[in-house]
Amino acid sequence: MFSINPAYDMFPPSDALEEYRDDDRYEGLAGLNPRRAELYQLCEENGTPITVMKGYASGRLFDENDSPFGVALTPVQCIHYALEQNGVASIFVGVSNVEELDAALEYESASENEKEYKSILVNAPNHSFEGKCMYCGHCAPCSSGIDIAALIKLYDLAVMHDEVPQSVQEHYNNLTYDATECIACGECEDRCPFNVRIVDVMLDAHDLFDL
Ligand code: SF4
Ligand code: SF4
Repeated sequence: MFSINPAYDMFPPSDALEEYRDDDRYEGLAGLNPRRAELYQLCEENGTPITVMKGYASGRLFDENDSPFGVALTPVQCIHYALEQNGVASIFVGVSNVEELDAALEYESASENEKEYKSILVNAPNHSFEGKCMYCGHCAPCSSGIDIAALIKLYDLAVMHDEVPQSVQEHYNNLTYDATECIACGECEDRCPFNVRIVDVMLDAHDLFDL
C-alpha cells in the first residue's frame, strides 16, 4: 500500500521539507517527482503491485480552495490518476455515505473525457502547499503531548462535512491529548515546513469538537 495522488506525487524531489515552503519551487511544476516515478517503475518491472491509499488527499483535492493546485478534481479523476501510474493495481477510497460511494463507483462507467485530469493540473493556478497540513509530523513533539498531525487530520476530515461525523468525533474523543491541552507555546509552528497556523487550528478544533 502506498499513498498516491497528484499533490503527493508533485512534491519537489527533495528530502529537505523546509524547501517546500518556497512557492517559487512550484512554478512550472507539472510532472511527477522523479523518485516516485522510479519507485512506481520498479514496482511495475518487478511485479510488485501497488494498492493506492490517500487517492483523494483526504478530500482536499475536491475543493479548489483547499487543493494545493487551486483547482478542484472529481473522485473519478483522482481514481483515474492513481490507476494510471506504473505498478498500480488497485485503489482504496474512503467513503462516509452512499453518495460518496456512488461518486467513486461512477468510475466504472465514466467516459475518457470525465477521467481526464492532466489539462486541469497543467493549467492549475498554483502549486503551493503553503499553510496546508500534509500530516508529515515534523511539528512534533508538542509541549503538551498532542499528536498534532493526527488531530489536524481529524479536524480537516470534520470540516469537509456540514456536521462532524460521529466516527470522527469518536476518534477525536479517543485522543490522549486533545485541542484543549494546547498552551499556544508556538514551538510546533516553528518546526512546520508548511507554515501551518497550528495554534489557530487548535482553537478551531476546540470550538468544533469540544463545545
Ligand atoms: S502541522 Fe505542519 S509539521 Fe505538523 S503535520 Fe501538519 S504540515 Fe506537518
Ligand atoms: S502550540 Fe499547542 S500544539 Fe503547538 S507545541 Fe505548543 S501546546 Fe503543542
